[in-house]
Amino acid sequence: MNGPSFTSDTCIDVRNRPEATCAFRLPSWPATASTNGSASSGPAAWTQDGRRPRDVSAYSVNWLTTSTGRESSSADRFALLGVQAAAARVDGWLGQGREIGEDKEMPAWICATCAVQYPDTEEPPAHCPICEDERQYVGWQGQRWTTARDLVRDHRSELREEEPNLIGVGIEPAFGIGQRALLVCTPQGNVLWDCVALIDDAACRQILELGGVDVICMSHPHFYGANIDIADAFDARVLVPRADRDWIARPSPRIELFDDEAEPIAGLTLARIGGHFDGAAVLHWPAGAGQRGVLLTGDTITVVQDRDWVSFMWSYPNLIPLDERTVLDIAARVERFSFDRVYGGWWGRVVVEDGARAIRRSAERYVARLRGERPSHATHGSPPSRT
Ligand SMILES: [Zn+2]
Ligand SMILES: [Zn+2]
Repeated sequence: MNGPSFTSDTCIDVRNRPEATCAFRLPSWPATASTNGSASSGPAAWTQDGRRPRDVSAYSVNWLTTSTGRESSSADRFALLGVQAAAARVDGWLGQGREIGEDKEMPAWICATCAVQYPDTEEPPAHCPICEDERQYVGWQGQRWTTARDLVRDHRSELREEEPNLIGVGIEPAFGIGQRALLVCTPQGNVLWDCVALIDDAACRQILELGGVDVICMSHPHFYGANIDIADAFDARVLVPRADRDWIARPSPRIELFDDEAEPIAGLTLARIGGHFDGAAVLHWPAGAGQRGVLLTGDTITVVQDRDWVSFMWSYPNLIPLDERTVLDIAARVERFSFDRVYGGWWGRVVVEDGARAIRRSAERYVARLRGERPSHATHGSPPSRT
């Protein structure tokens, strides 16, 4: 993971949390904006005029009103849609017992350091187990929480086409660990790989234009983000490896457990390969990179600054390595996939070509360093040869 990047302005100090004042009613998506993709013109809409999404302003969202009856501010609208785009299934949602009253707000609290969302409670959780684990860290200002409503006041979604039919989904300015998710668009359906803390209204509509999200798969708990809010928004399934079930931060009937492998959408393979977490997974997309194949890795296998290489760690922020056997096992587990390109969990962290060999040679280098072996030039104290 990258270093901390949260903005203190977006966070609520739990010792001085303002009273919740804005209860709300849920909106409804317009009938034309189907969440199952039936209203979408498909991924081609994204690329037909270059790298920019086409205007989707034809969708007219029913904006929210607060409990006071006034129309929401622009920030409120975006925040509530980011959180409550699940409005398409408002009846079912309320039927699950979610408590939304005239006088009470039950926010789903988001950890400001790791960006993972927890269940709806009046008060924020006492702890974030993901941050308290040695693979992450509690923010230097202590445990801090925010909500989507507050987050969206000075953050927005950022969508970028990484390659045809692969859309990066991030947040600007960066939040949490600064990650970006990836939307894989296929004729059989769309998979959101990894998650962020918020997808705002404009991005929700653009993603609906691309066919929505059918399944959410995540590399590991550091990328859970607001996975259930996003799943509610798009009526999506959420696949979590059984090995990581104890890390589920926000339980939901949308979550389906798998063991070592799953097929979220026909043609895509979700594979648990372990290492960073027992359930750490990768997603194989054979049609990516011009049919040469793509592996999406988050930081199960992380693409490093020298982007012809990757690395493997127990903890990235605390620099705790993995052992030799595990690193070689990770490399071996992805050899069954045919791929040329590797997408890590952050903007620009991409091995553009020869990704399969990059993983193999990176594992071998890693093991060599664990054994105390160094490049021949380094053993003589000299810089590498440029010949
Ligand atoms: Zn956290
Ligand atoms: Zn991680």
